[in-house]
Amino acid sequence: MNRKRRHLTFLLLLGLQLLTPAIFAADTVLDANRLDQSPVSLIQYFAVLEDPGRTLTLDDIQKPDVADRFKAGQASAVSLNFGYTDSAYWLRLTLRNTNNHPIERMLEIGYARLGTIQFHQPVANGAYQSLTTGSVMPFATRPLKNRYFVFPVTLPADSEQVYYLRFQSKTPIVIPARLWEPPAFHAYERNDYIGQAWYFGMVTAMVLFNLLLFVALRDVIYLLYVNFVTCTAFSIASQNGLFKEFLWHNSPLWSVTSTVTGYSLTLAALLAFARYMLNTGKVIPAFDRLLKFLSVFFLIFPIVFVISFQTFVKFAVLLYGVTLMLIIGIALYCAFKRQRSAYFFAGAFALFCIGGVIGIMAALGALPTNIFTINAWQFGSAMEMLLLAFALADRFNIIRREKEKAQREALEAQQLLVINLKSSEHVLEARVAERTAELQILNRKLEALSATDGLTGIANRRHFDETLTSEWNRSERVGQPLALAILDVDWFKKYNDHYGHQQGDECLRNIAGILVANICRTGDFVARYGGEEFVFIAPTADGAIALNMARRICAALQALGLPHDMSEFGRVTASIGVAAIVPRAGLSPDVLVKAADEALYCAKKQGRNRAVLASQ
Ligand code: GH3
Ligand code: MG
Ligand code: MG
Repeated sequence: MNRKRRHLTFLLLLGLQLLTPAIFAADTVLDANRLDQSPVSLIQYFAVLEDPGRTLTLDDIQKPDVADRFKAGQASAVSLNFGYTDSAYWLRLTLRNTNNHPIERMLEIGYARLGTIQFHQPVANGAYQSLTTGSVMPFATRPLKNRYFVFPVTLPADSEQVYYLRFQSKTPIVIPARLWEPPAFHAYERNDYIGQAWYFGMVTAMVLFNLLLFVALRDVIYLLYVNFVTCTAFSIASQNGLFKEFLWHNSPLWSVTSTVTGYSLTLAALLAFARYMLNTGKVIPAFDRLLKFLSVFFLIFPIVFVISFQTFVKFAVLLYGVTLMLIIGIALYCAFKRQRSAYFFAGAFALFCIGGVIGIMAALGALPTNIFTINAWQFGSAMEMLLLAFALADRFNIIRREKEKAQREALEAQQLLVINLKSSEHVLEARVAERTAELQILNRKLEALSATDGLTGIANRRHFDETLTSEWNRSERVGQPLALAILDVDWFKKYNDHYGHQQGDECLRNIAGILVANICRTGDFVARYGGEEFVFIAPTADGAIALNMARRICAALQALGLPHDMSEFGRVTASIGVAAIVPRAGLSPDVLVKAADEALYCAKKQGRNRAVLASQ
């Protein structure tokens, strides 16, 4: 462009300006030479026109009546925010170059989700060159490869240029716009991408590391964490344009819905993770069911965006907000209940929220915009991830400590059990010995009792039978005689009737005493046979000796002189049948008993109070 022509253009533009003074009078013109290292926010330099019908063309808005309707002098802020709207918005911007040479500038729209953006740049002769790009357009439509929308502009020397931008979007129309000098912009862009690379590098490392932890430890919480981190990263990448730039280029539907879908999946993942980490099933079972439901709900909720994005998106945003509040509330409640994991969880969440608040404040111009405040949300997210990872490590530590404690306790319990067992074994042994001794004494007593007659204290009938058999066998072996005598008290029934039963018992005890006192040679044996009958056995004694013994008894009894008024002797007397035999094979002790009994019968018959020897 030669000098003459440039001057002509300037004059022409000036003329145009003079022709339509109403358009430009209210607009604040930005002196583009003023920039050096730092960018300038363009918001206050924009004149804005809302086009509810979305029908106005570039020609239309340049007509004086429409051009008049532009509202100039926007409040000084970092971005324009029209929210969710069906209207299209036109922005008019006037830039001035007072230099005598052309300058290049970068116009940056720093919000990645804007659906369509038209950029109209003046060329020579009042004509405009138009360019359409946006998140629903292919990435290749962008004049500069960047996650945001950057339009390089050239201002001719000594000129004032009017630019038009048109925005239309199903996602909220938020327009943070800045003007840069190219070198400053490229330096900024480089830092910006380093920051993004740092964040997503960290996400990748966290995901891989926790995936390996899951494989190694088989604790599902690591998988839930990986899930949450992945969904968060996806949402952020979708929100800030990186996803569009690097992964998903050309689907308009997906460009519109991916971010809110990401939020929904992130919430689903966060709910699942929170449930597991905060152990809500135990701490607040009633809410746990709600969280479980919401987790599944948010997993399938994005389907509604496919049906109609515009119908559901505001409701969705409200729902996300409410759910976030719910999660914060539950985390705080669990922390209040002194649930250790909840401290970390609430802390991590707080970092994330602080990041979000800083980001929003920077976007509203309440904080200076720099790489930290603009990306505060991502910083918050990174810090949250780190703290949650630390919480998982802490959880692992706790589980290990609990396990060690349990092992220690089990060991102690085992040792105690062994000690107890040993001591109770001793006690048991002692007790068994004690009981055995007692039992032996009892057995002996029982044996004695079973062999003794209760009334007289001498051997009883059973003992007699045993003794007779054994003496019989012994005598048979040695070939010696065995003598047996049966004693029967005379007229004892009458004695009982006359003196009473107790006196009768006393009498029987006296007779037993006489027997014991008189039959006292070694081997002799005295017993009560039953009723008022007694017996004695005299081994080795023949009939004569035994008869003598019996007579001695009769005499001793008579000598004792126990009174018996009903007896013709006037005192207690007894009759004794005596028998003796040398036992031999083929005979039994019964023979001896029978013979003695018969002899007793004879003694009674012969008048009582005597001893009679059985005939051989
Ligand atoms: P006998 O001269 O013919 O032998 O006449 P008895 O009266 O002695 O004969 P009997 O066999 O008819 O009577 C035996 C009596 O012995 C009957 C019973 O009252 C008495 N008697 C048996 N056992 C006991 C006992 O343990 N204590 C007392 N007090 N009396 C007994
Ligand atoms: Mg009798
Ligand atoms: Mg009798």
